[in-house]
Amino acid sequence: MQSFVYTAAATRVVFGAGALGELGREIAFLGAERALVLSTPGQAASAHRVAELLGERSAGVFAQARMHVPIEIARAARAEAQRLGADCAVAIGGGSTTGLGKAIALEVDGTRRFPIVAIPTTYAGSEMTPIWGVTEGGVKKTGRDPRVLPATVIYDPELTVALPLALTVTSAMNAIAHAAEGLYAHDGNPVTALMAEEGIRAAATALPALRADAGDLEARSDALYAAWLCGTVLGNVAMGLHHKLCHTLGGTFNLPHAEVHTVVLPHALAYNAAAAPEAMARIVRALTAAGRPGGSAARAVFDLAEAHGAPTSLREIGMAQSDLDRAADLAVQNQYPNPRALERGAIRALLQRAHEGARPD
Ligand code: NAD
Repeated sequence: MQSFVYTAAATRVVFGAGALGELGREIAFLGAERALVLSTPGQAASAHRVAELLGERSAGVFAQARMHVPIEIARAARAEAQRLGADCAVAIGGGSTTGLGKAIALEVDGTRRFPIVAIPTTYAGSEMTPIWGVTEGGVKKTGRDPRVLPATVIYDPELTVALPLALTVTSAMNAIAHAAEGLYAHDGNPVTALMAEEGIRAAATALPALRADAGDLEARSDALYAAWLCGTVLGNVAMGLHHKLCHTLGGTFNLPHAEVHTVVLPHALAYNAAAAPEAMARIVRALTAAGRPGGSAARAVFDLAEAHGAPTSLREIGMAQSDLDRAADLAVQNQYPNPRALERGAIRALLQRAHEGARPD
């Protein structure tokens, strides 16, 4: 076995149908008294329900979270937290809402603690990472800071029943992407590899059941369990070509987060396949355990997405052919660890296949 370093992050996880009911107990457990409840405008009703549940422990609701955490929104949320005397945040929603909670925690002065309780309603996994992101002047800055890692995560599958099927599928593919890249991370370790494989299996197991019945609580639990495992992998080890490409495509060309991950993943895996055979074998093993047919990892992932009605081409999610050259240039601007060296020509070809939605070998 290779030598490795593994740092366990100290997030408390409360998991199960109805777990939202434990929120008051969890806030008290943190030693906090007044929570600012965060959500997107679309999930304001859920945020108000949470505030009601909290009663006196609610400082108020800030329902203006937006994709990629615009700095103006982060500042407004921070000012609101201060005005209302909040000493913690409850973020109910996907990565955008968790991200807003992180942006508040990041700027709180060094002497104060501002814990976040995350209640994820997608499978993006941000709740398990110390990674923050804020967008200023059209540029998204990201970084790592242990202060932004949520102190407590409440995974309640009942809250995910309303997640539309299309986003359910692409968000689960987003989770699979964290795990897949974690399996070939230069700083990977046997513990995150276990989590990654189990996360892929659980996500792929949930999808057919959710397509048949979006309210299937057992399958919703599997998907959230996958989000937890895959998010933990994302938070612990370095991501490679796939995540860098998605960051560029999402940020520069304003493409939707989970869809970009879904489309790009099979092509990024095909690019890395020969350089990371063990990771590919583990991805296939996880998908086979979930009842998927075998084949290459890239093809198996492509087929999983396609079988559940997800987009398979960059074209159909709004990327122009004329932007592919620029995307390839941006992708090789900074070098970073990836199983296969970053070659501009091969990445341009990868993007072309992803644009067309070609099925990998
Ligand atoms: P999102 O949070 O933007 O949510 C998409 C939309 O779905 C929103 O309008 C949201 O309100 C709605 N929604 C969420 N859950 C719902 C539910 N259960 N029912 C109905 N509607 C629901 O999407 P996302 O994919 O979860 O997050 C994407 C963002 O998170 C990106 O900005 C990405 O960069 C970031 N992210 C960060 C990390 C990290 O570690 N920092 C990890 C993953 C994603």
